[in-house]
Parts: sequence; structure tokens; C-alpha cells
Amino acid sequence: MRPFRIAAVVLTLVLALAACGGTPEVEPAPAPSPAEEELSDKPAVEPEVEPVAEPEPEVDPADAAWAALDITLDVREGLCHGDKGPEYQRYIVLHDTEGDGDASSVIDWWDSNGSYVAAHFVVNRDGSIVQCVPLDMIAHHAGFGDAGHNELYGVTDESRDDMRGTTPIGDWAPDYGMNSYSIGIEMVHVGGQDYPEEQLEALDGLIAYIDAYYGFESTIIDHKAWRSGNSDTSPEFAGFLANYQDHRTHD
Ligand SMILES: [Zn+2]
Repeated sequence: MRPFRIAAVVLTLVLALAACGGTPEVEPAPAPSPAEEELSDKPAVEPEVEPVAEPEPEVDPADAAWAALDITLDVREGLCHGDKGPEYQRYIVLHDTEGDGDASSVIDWWDSNGSYVAAHFVVNRDGSIVQCVPLDMIAHHAGFGDAGHNELYGVTDESRDDMRGTTPIGDWAPDYGMNSYSIGIEMVHVGGQDYPEEQLEALDGLIAYIDAYYGFESTIIDHKAWRSGNSDTSPEFAGFLANYQDHRTHD
């Protein structure tokens, strides 16, 4: 192309650009519909709103305490002896199994020997726990107590307990109210043995669970407090029992 032709083309281009304002052509915006007009009346920027934190999911304290346990639920209908709603809960009664058998074998024995005796929970020496009676059912773990102990402990036998399999043990122990107002816990233990740390920590956690379940602290006693001369809990447990009664853990 000759120079003057190039100049002419450049000039044409410059003129063309000037004609359209030097900017690229833009489609005209369509007229706003009535709805859009209404919207456009609102401020362009939404007023700032404090972000609302997602509420933490509520964890039931009893569920949390249960989850912290190494526990197996193995309910045996034959060991449940009547209703025990939370309004009847007063005591946690601690026992020793006075045998070497682990929790599962102890519960199998209870469920097959025809005596209908059982506690709600059995705590193994390794800290694992098995529950065979629900908290809202009566278990036959405390049996008959000393004359006057119904009054001393503020319990009565008002026949929620079916008393199946029970046999009076003598005039000195005619009172039968504790089962209807308590939860029983057996520790696998034979007199003379230590109580392993794992077992005691499991008992700490189990008592914390029972406290959380009811929303109050039940009075902690051992079996021989209810029935004088009983051999459980063993003498080695005395210091731990005092600690539980004082502040609800073994140490
Ligand atoms: Zn006992």
C-alpha cells in the first residue's frame, strides 16, 4: 500500500472511532420492570447484620457421662422387679461381688440361679462395666436391712417391688425398703485384693453418670451400712468410700 493510502485508511478509522464516541458500543439497558423499580428503591447495600453464631448442639450431661464409660447394656427382664421412677431415687449402694468372675459371668449367674438377686451395674477390675437392670427399675441388691433402717434411711416398702424370690432373714433384719429407693453397683472384688485404679476410675465415671441422669447427688452407702454384719464392701474399700461420700470420687 502506498503511504497516502495508509494515511487515508488511518484517517477513516480515526473518524469512525470519533463518530462512536471512542467507546465500544453498549446495548441500551432495558427499561426496568415495575418490580425492579420497587427493588431499586431499597438501599444498594443491605444494612449490616450481626452474624448469628450457629447454636452448639445441646449435649445432655447424662449422655456425655455415659459416652465416657466403657459400658455394655445387657438388660435381663427376670432381674427387674418393678418401677422406680426418678422421684424414688435416694441412694447409691456399693457392693463387692466377692468372687473372681467377671461382670458378664456374674450377671449370667444372677439370671439363672433363681434367686432374682442382682445389682444394676457390675464394674470389672479392668474398668469395663455391664448394666443388667435399667435405672428406672428396681433391682434386688440390698435385700433386708436392720430393724429400724427403713426409718433411719427414710425408705418404705410400698409394694412397687414385686419381692419375687425374697426370703426374710430374721427378726433382726425385717426392714425392706432400700431396693425401691436405690441403685446398686457391684465391683468385681474378693476380700484382700486391691481395687485397681481402672476399676475405681470407672466407678467415679459411673457415679457421675448416675448423678447426671437424675440431676442430683444420691447418698452413697455400702451394703453393710444397710445390713449390719454384711461383708461388702471389703475393708480395703473404706478409704475410697469416705472419699466418695465426701466428694464423689475415689481419691
Ligand atoms: Zn452386697
